Amino acid sequence: MRDNKKLWKVEARARNAAMADTVFGRIIRGEFPCHKVYEDDKVLAFLDINPLSDGHTLVIPKEAAETMDQLSDESAAALGRVLPRLCRAVIAATGARQYNLLQNNGRGAHQAVAHLHFHIIPKPNHREGLGIGWPARILDRDAAAALAKKIAAAIK
Ligand code: 5GP
Repeated sequence: MRDNKKLWKVEARARNAAMADTVFGRIIRGEFPCHKVYEDDKVLAFLDINPLSDGHTLVIPKEAAETMDQLSDESAAALGRVLPRLCRAVIAATGARQYNLLQNNGRGAHQAVAHLHFHIIPKPNHREGLGIGWPARILDRDAAAALAKKIAAAIK
């Protein structure tokens, strides 16, 4: 148990060091510029450098977490508290009534920057904003029941 804790600490330290080197880590530290729209002690929001539409905004925790599953409850709460306000502000400023809230985890899931971030992407029309492939399947009832139980049991 003690070894596990030690390992977790070593991993967390390594992660923090790697995080510090991402472009978002540098933006947080003020080493890279950004068009800031919001900041508090746990959260920073700024315009995406390659927007899919006007108002495309990135919202990031200051904590060095790469993906959602690595984020602390404190930072998650801070993000959750401010996201609706930021969405309302983006809508008000751009006039776009529809938008996507996107959050990618892992390279294979289209995450390019290894520092957790939410995208707020206005969808003013069918040409601009986020386009999504959605390869939906039919849910198998028996498999779904087993899987739902398995996920529920894994919640800590
Ligand atoms: P991801 O694919 O990781 O979910 O999205 C990363 C986003 O970060 C992209 O939309 C990309 O345009 C944006 N981005 C990458 N580097 C910078 C930067 O230096 N400044 C800003 N403002 N956005 C960036």
